[in-house]
Amino acid sequence: MEDSHRKQLASLTDEIVACRMCTRLVDWREKIGQEKRASYKDWDYWAKPVPSYGDSDASLVLLGLAPAAHGGNRTGRVFTGDSSATFLTAAMHKAGLANQPNSDHRDDGLEFNGAYIAAAVRCVPPGDKPTPEEQRACLPYLVRELRMLPNLKVIMALGHIAFRATLQTLSEMASEKMRGKFMHGEVYRFGPLLPMMVASYHPSPRNTNTGVLTMDALVKVLKQAKELSLS
Ligand code: SF4
Repeated sequence: MEDSHRKQLASLTDEIVACRMCTRLVDWREKIGQEKRASYKDWDYWAKPVPSYGDSDASLVLLGLAPAAHGGNRTGRVFTGDSSATFLTAAMHKAGLANQPNSDHRDDGLEFNGAYIAAAVRCVPPGDKPTPEEQRACLPYLVRELRMLPNLKVIMALGHIAFRATLQTLSEMASEKMRGKFMHGEVYRFGPLLPMMVASYHPSPRNTNTGVLTMDALVKVLKQAKELSLS
């Protein structure tokens, strides 16, 4: 029965990939997949909900906001094929959480060591801004998924929306309201029955190109989260 959580995760992934609950996001992800960016015109875009990726025995989960239009929505793997993915994967490699510094496409050989990546919303939203209703619609998938990870100890929230989604998820898991104020590098503890949370700025170009989030700062937080997850 050791592999039962893997089977549960695989079954949940199938369910998520088939989801068409948010009509605005279904229309948007498929429109992007048909119109494509000129530089990817030969790609067969994924254009479906983007499942999580990583080590199902992970004790550390990284949580992002949502797939990028020409990243995850194109490649079908979370944090894959765009500049945020490039920055995050390089940092994960430096922190000993990834076997290579690049995340380009689903067959690029990327493997995580003790880490798993999910998104708070699984479909690309217009302007990278899901509505509160869309966030609420997608949250149960995350709650179910986190419950299927037997070794989960730390959730590292990438950005404010992922931070709020983590608080909402933990509140669902505990049937009690969890609170916190976002601060990069801060560790949040919610008692012995819930995972800890570590907050980080999102590795988007808006943050990495302006110095809000440097490579050294992200590697430092990743190492901190990793140490907490192994303690
Ligand atoms: S955002 Fe989540 S709930 Fe909405 S359609 Fe996509 S997978 Fe389904």
